[in-house]
Amino acid sequence: MVYLHVPFCRSFCTYCDFYSELCGRGASFKAYADAVCGEIAGRKDEIRSSRETDTLYVGGGTPSVLPPDVLERIVGEIVNARGGEGGFSEFTVEVNPEDIIEKGEAYVRSLLRMGVDRISMGIQSFDDQLLRWMNRRHDRGHALEAFRMLRRAGVGNISIDLIFGLPQLTGELWRQTLETALELSPEHISAYQLSVEPGSALARMEEKGTWSAAGEAQCMEQYGTLCEVLSDAGYHHYEVSNFARPGFEAVHNSAYWRRVPYVGLGPGAHSLSGNVRRWNTRHMPSYSSESEVLSEEQVRLETIMLSLRTDTGLEEDRLRSMADNQSVDRLLGEGALVRAGGRLRIPEDHFFVSDEIIRELV
Ligand code: SF4
Repeated sequence: MVYLHVPFCRSFCTYCDFYSELCGRGASFKAYADAVCGEIAGRKDEIRSSRETDTLYVGGGTPSVLPPDVLERIVGEIVNARGGEGGFSEFTVEVNPEDIIEKGEAYVRSLLRMGVDRISMGIQSFDDQLLRWMNRRHDRGHALEAFRMLRRAGVGNISIDLIFGLPQLTGELWRQTLETALELSPEHISAYQLSVEPGSALARMEEKGTWSAAGEAQCMEQYGTLCEVLSDAGYHHYEVSNFARPGFEAVHNSAYWRRVPYVGLGPGAHSLSGNVRRWNTRHMPSYSSESEVLSEEQVRLETIMLSLRTDTGLEEDRLRSMADNQSVDRLLGEGALVRAGGRLRIPEDHFFVSDEIIRELV
């Protein structure tokens, strides 16, 4: 299971704190590719032995700003490191709509030829005013056309990202957003509640008092609309923020939630091997890596937090061995935890308050 971080963006979105550099400033794509290929050569054994889940996920940043030959070179090195074997069980690339519009269907077909079988597109909203506020580079028309271009080029598994919980997003506008998304019929939808990340432009706006977050009631209502509309449309709500047509649940992300070991490549990427977490420094093009051994306590917290955000939860015995049992019993009595097949999970109607439930358990 390999993650490749592509730390380039054409501009920065209001809410984002992911590690990324502005295109055209500082490091070139070639210098980036040289550095990542060097890292791959030095981590061959890890890449070879990280195939319990055999996926490749290219995220960012904005991977779709990379010229296809640059991505192809890096993917080729990853395949070589695996002993020449391609054929990932899932190969996802994140794209932004404006790149698909600019580069056209030929670009998408070049991704498919590389073995990509899943595209995740950052749409966020279909409302032009909201998109401008987010400082996105696309508008509604671009988002719709880019989606159709992906389909025309032959992409059979498309995920789209949406954001809710903005104070300017009315209940009606959110419902329309979801209806527009359903008209496109994506295989997968990730819908995230807006959060203020330290270091983002939004955090600075909040500090200056020029922006304040939506209230809890508004966010909860929008989350309720999300669950209702997507469940009526037949989507499987398999993680707090993720919905899929049955059979299209993300293999790579689902493995993260089970704490399957993975190799993260590129500046800013994280890796997990047993109880060792490793991360690459956020520096381009030359970066180094640091690591820490996770304590039993850290593993316990991560295991509970990640598994209880999914609809499969955790084996009851295991959860009881790691959590406060009185809280487990009380949450079961209140319906905030339910039993299914020897496992305990948070039911969908309590997903919105999953963080509080998890806090009570740990
Ligand atoms: S949301 Fe995506 S495109 Fe926007 S700044 Fe963050 S990584 Fe870049």
